[in-house]
Amino acid sequence: MNKIHILPEFIANQIAAGEVVQRPESVIKELVENSMDAGAKTIAIFIADAGKSLIHIVDDGMGMSREDLEVAPLRHSTSKIKTTDDLAAIKTFGFRGEALPSISSVALLEIRSKLHNAEQGWRLLSEPMKLPTIEQIQMDSGTQVFVRNLFYNVPARRKFLKSNMTEQKYIYETVQKFCLAHPNKRFIFYDNNSLVYDVKEETLLGRIANILRIGDEEHSLIAVDMSINDIRISGYIGHPQLAKKTNAAQYFFLNGRHINSKNLSYAVYSAYEQLIERNLKPFFVLNISLDYNQVDVNVHPQKSEVKFEDEKLIYSCVKNAAVEALRLHNLLPELVGDVPTSYEKVVTTDIAGVSETLLVDKITGEIYHTPQRVSGHSAEHNSINTFHYRPQNHAPSAVAAIHKIYESGMLGEEEVQKEEQIRLPELDGEYNLWQFHNKYIFVETADGLLVIDQHNAHERHLFERLMEKIRTGNSVKQTLLFPLELDLSSIQLLAVKELWSELDRMGFELETASEGTTITILTLPQDLEISQIERSFAEIIDDYLQNEELAGNSKQERIAATVACKAAIKAGRKLSQEEMRIIVNDLLRCRMQHICPHGRPIIYHSPLLEWDRRLGRR
Ligand code: ADP
Ligand code: MG
Repeated sequence: MNKIHILPEFIANQIAAGEVVQRPESVIKELVENSMDAGAKTIAIFIADAGKSLIHIVDDGMGMSREDLEVAPLRHSTSKIKTTDDLAAIKTFGFRGEALPSISSVALLEIRSKLHNAEQGWRLLSEPMKLPTIEQIQMDSGTQVFVRNLFYNVPARRKFLKSNMTEQKYIYETVQKFCLAHPNKRFIFYDNNSLVYDVKEETLLGRIANILRIGDEEHSLIAVDMSINDIRISGYIGHPQLAKKTNAAQYFFLNGRHINSKNLSYAVYSAYEQLIERNLKPFFVLNISLDYNQVDVNVHPQKSEVKFEDEKLIYSCVKNAAVEALRLHNLLPELVGDVPTSYEKVVTTDIAGVSETLLVDKITGEIYHTPQRVSGHSAEHNSINTFHYRPQNHAPSAVAAIHKIYESGMLGEEEVQKEEQIRLPELDGEYNLWQFHNKYIFVETADGLLVIDQHNAHERHLFERLMEKIRTGNSVKQTLLFPLELDLSSIQLLAVKELWSELDRMGFELETASEGTTITILTLPQDLEISQIERSFAEIIDDYLQNEELAGNSKQERIAATVACKAAIKAGRKLSQEEMRIIVNDLLRCRMQHICPHGRPIIYHSPLLEWDRRLGRR
């Protein structure tokens, strides 16, 4: 008996949907691409319930005739390619004819469309497993697509959708990419009936300001424009100061299509090699235009990765374009690109603990560049204020007793046992302290030497104190005399709303405007300096957006860790004997003494025995 048969169209579509339609965001991506392929100048996007219950796209593109509308949701129906030659040089976003059939197999689909010169429009209603119906309607020219109850008939897929916030984040990011890739088009975006943005045709610079909230007031964006043969690299890269550890904005658009490419990101990064710390990522929004036949976009079902005919060539074009732009802004010496051996990267640390990277000519001593300086300088000097909470009872003899209270009060039995093994040796009486290179504290113990990282130790203490205050409901707020306004991106605002109650408990009392993405900070955690909020706040939000799905640490703990890190004294600060003693005693009273809330080690114990052995006493 034969066992092979051709799958019914409906099942084939559901299989294709597995690749093309993974989440509400992918539906939006496919539909907006269709609108752009139809030549739309204005595209409006509405979502409800993170796109799970409704996605509605409206465009003013060319529209469809009744006959086209009838076949559009059929498998492999496309108006965009006809021959294999067409496949070799794809100029449109779509070409597989898979999106509409896939969507129609996993959701309720409604398409309304009217050709520009037609009197009437048509409405198609489609439901999985049923024949679609078509009727005549009155409407404006263009196309409207409604996708309702995505995956309602595929519970397994529905279940795998993430929280609304996460699904919204995917959608916001995708809409953001379209906006950045096509500043010549108008995009309107509503989330649950509230306007996220309405950006009209503008320059790329204007679009970056509107969407990413990065303005050019401080000349932080550097224009890039370089053509080599048929390849053109244009757009903006960020001043080194804009480089970030997490969530740096990095966008590549290839002929208007967003692409991911680690390799090309590295090409940009390598242009900054001498300008930013190794763990930072530069900002960039770069368009790569090339001949359609020099690239294969048919290598990935969502077309987010592409294959270049000559990847090495593109790599060097991108790198050279970035190097050239930096050089024109006097950020790179003439020769960097191939870094001449006479230049040396020197990291200096000043009293306030802010490190700077200098590019120095080893022979002439000439300094080429000092990019890393950031604001908030005075805050570092003032951070002596972080000592004003000074506890009264920190005599070393009290330490053991306090340990017991902390342990019984805060830890479960099991945890106590686990942690007892890694407790610090107890310090008795007047132990000696030294500060080493303005960042480590040496403490003499009965059987050796403790080396304590002053920043990590202080951070651990502040973190535990914050968490304890939150646990007991003690106020940790300080009210700002002048409320501070912060301009956020729409994605950051999404996260702020999500974190609202945690931020409030932490001491951040906030107000949002009824429109726009500005928030007002009314109060802040007691430990933070006013001049630190802008950076701390951005870091809390970005950290959350980046790691929101990490298991383990609660949101509250992550926020507290960021606040503690910002508020803690920095490496590089000279400490008095008294300050050192406070830090050490505070650490001794911590629940966990060995690692800071971000997982970095705090102490290192060097046994006396080891010293004796090395120096021949044993
Ligand atoms: P593809 O985009 O790969 O051609 P789709 O399933 O996404 O496949 O769309 C099928 C066809 O429906 C398209 O080729 C196009 O002709 C038509 N179509 C889809 N959306 C629109 C729209 N917004 N405006 C005009 N035509 C559209
Ligand atoms: Mg399509």
